[in-house]
Amino acid sequence: VLLGPFGVGKTSLFRRFVDNEFSEDYKVTLGVQIKKKSVPLPDGRELSMVIWDTEGHSDNVQDTRKSYLLGSHSMVYVFDLSRPETYGTIISDMKYLKKEYPKVIFKVLGNKLDLVNKKEVTQQLKDQDIPVDALTSAKTDKNVLDFFNNLAVDLTK
Ligand code: GDP
Ligand code: MG
Repeated sequence: VLLGPFGVGKTSLFRRFVDNEFSEDYKVTLGVQIKKKSVPLPDGRELSMVIWDTEGHSDNVQDTRKSYLLGSHSMVYVFDLSRPETYGTIISDMKYLKKEYPKVIFKVLGNKLDLVNKKEVTQQLKDQDIPVDALTSAKTDKNVLDFFNNLAVDLTK
C-alpha cells in the first residue's frame, strides 16, 4: 500500500509502475485504487503484487483510513523531495506506523528526484536523520521499477 501526504506522487508511481504512464495533471485520488502486477523474481518465479494507491493524508498519517492499511504486507511511505514540509513528519509517522503494524515491511521513498539536486537533498536528509530506502522520479522513470522489484524480493524473504 502506498501512503503519505497529498500530492507527493503516489498515484504517479502507481501508474508508472503498473502501466508505464505519467501525466502532469493533478487529480486527487478519492478513496483507493487497486491494481495487480506480476513481478519477476531473481530465481525465475513471479510475484503477483496487489498495489493499493490510497488518497493519502493531509496533516497526519493517523488520518489514513485503517481499512486501507489492515492486512497489507508492505507499506511504502512516499514523500516529495521538492517539498521539505513533506519530510518533516517522516520520523514520527514511521514510529507510529511501526508500532501499529509491527509485522509490515516498511519502505520510505522520496519522489520527484527530477526536481532537486540529488547530492544536496541526500545531505539534507542525512543531516535530519531521515531514513530513506529509495529516491525516485515517476516522471522520468528513475528507479521506479528497481524499487518495486527490490520490494518484491523483500516480500518473498
Ligand atoms: P498523490 O496525491 O501522492 O497521488 O500525487 P500524484 O501522483 O497525483 O502527483 C501530484 C502531482 O505531482 C502531479 O501533478 C504529478 O504530475 C506530479 N508528479 C508526480 N510524480 C512526479 C515526479 O516524479 N516528478 C515531477 N516533476 N512531478 C511529479
Ligand atoms: Mg493520488
